[in-house]
Amino acid sequence: MTQNETPKPIRVRMAPSPTGFFHVGTARTALFNYLFAMHSGGKLVLRIEDTDLQRSNVEYEKVIYEGMAWLGLTVDEGPHQGGDFGPYRQSERFDIYQKHAENLIASGHAYRAYETPGELEAMKAAQAAAKQAPRYNGAHRDLSDEQRTAFEAENRNNVVRFRVPEGRASWQDIVRGNVTFQNVEIDDFVIMKSDGSPTYNFACVVDDALMQISHVVRGEDGVNNTPRQLLLYSALGFPIPLFAHLPFLLGRDRSKLSKRHGAVNVLDYRDKGILPDAMFNYLAQLGWNPGEGDTQEIFTRNELIEKFTLERVGKAAAIFDVEKLAHLNTEYLKAMPLDEFIELVKPQLPPFAVDDYAKTAIEAARERIRTNVIWEEVTNEKGKVEKIPTDFDTDFARAAAYFFTDDFFVEEQGAAKHLTEVARERLSQLRARLEALSEWTVEAIEGALRGLADDLGIKPAELIHPSRMAVSGRTVGPSIFHLLEILGRERVLGRLQRQF
Ligand code: GLU
Repeated sequence: MTQNETPKPIRVRMAPSPTGFFHVGTARTALFNYLFAMHSGGKLVLRIEDTDLQRSNVEYEKVIYEGMAWLGLTVDEGPHQGGDFGPYRQSERFDIYQKHAENLIASGHAYRAYETPGELEAMKAAQAAAKQAPRYNGAHRDLSDEQRTAFEAENRNNVVRFRVPEGRASWQDIVRGNVTFQNVEIDDFVIMKSDGSPTYNFACVVDDALMQISHVVRGEDGVNNTPRQLLLYSALGFPIPLFAHLPFLLGRDRSKLSKRHGAVNVLDYRDKGILPDAMFNYLAQLGWNPGEGDTQEIFTRNELIEKFTLERVGKAAAIFDVEKLAHLNTEYLKAMPLDEFIELVKPQLPPFAVDDYAKTAIEAARERIRTNVIWEEVTNEKGKVEKIPTDFDTDFARAAAYFFTDDFFVEEQGAAKHLTEVARERLSQLRARLEALSEWTVEAIEGALRGLADDLGIKPAELIHPSRMAVSGRTVGPSIFHLLEILGRERVLGRLQRQF
């Protein structure tokens, strides 16, 4: 059987196991499948791989739907959507696997093996003693009918093992190029367990084939399974899909992605104020890039769909960096439609009516918004102190509350530095000049402030910093003249004479 060179129509799948939260790596795989399907006008199938009935859980399945919905990853077929190739939960397909396993036994590609757990343990121990790698020794490969009947009579449980042929298994991976495994490296692996449930490799191949999956796009940890799966495709007489194994996702220190590098649960990011568009954009660039010399970082969903190809997925491990995610989040916050942004930050601010004043104020404050990563020091198992990212802070309450209340937060150090006795005296002179202005515009305000600085023989900055402190309690913010204009004469005059 050869690899299908021009697979049509394009059908891809994401096949998560509902055994834990929605991991960043799972989300990246789902996203790449989604982008590829959307780019090529193909279909995306969601298949829930819940064959491990002990570890699978409907709550975790819900978390998958929640994570996909948050990221905006819609699927064409799946447990909820239905489709022509269902059911889409493996736990509902056991009879299908059973049937194909029987076929493999009938055609001699698989066999029942009756070893007890004790016998398998002894096999492993003997191999360990002989310094050999553990593998099934093929003892029940060629049982006679009498032997089988005898084992059955003993009421022994049996598993179905695949009879690995001689030769090699190789494929042209879209990401990794040619990959070859020698079959001698593979032992006769189990395809059906004694409880009648299929193993991952078997269920995966049966389903990918029956669901007519054209491209298997999954994480690099799948590479070791692929030779087993290729052997199964051939034995079952199914056409072989194309494979693309996405590079590993690592933390900033190039170790396996874990809590030390930030949350690994996608929904935690939602709960910490990361926007789904920022996450979508960030995940898309973990292992994929738009092309040589293209430094664009921010893409709309449509741009990503348009540009995404599997050929541009790299082999090198991708680094998950929360600082970059925070940076992208900042850019998205700045670029959001203002009305949406106001709805987003409203709960952080004192109550206000969404009028022109509020809109202008929030728009001005937004220019300075930043998503910061909050780092916490922890002592690791080796007794070393390390910093781990625990949260994000977009700090909008502090950046903008002063537009809506006089009772705003004041940066103490800044106040001590800028609101000195001398500065206060100058502010009262500034106040008098501002009070006398016939119009309240940026130009008029700037003229008054610079004029006073000239008259006093000081730099404008010596009036600007104290003014900013007095009217906003902050050392940073929108341009001072713009800020004073937005706040309006009444607030400004009130605050300039206020004692902190
Ligand atoms: N259920 C497998 C996993 O979650 C799927 C691997 C694959 O895509 O084939 O790792």
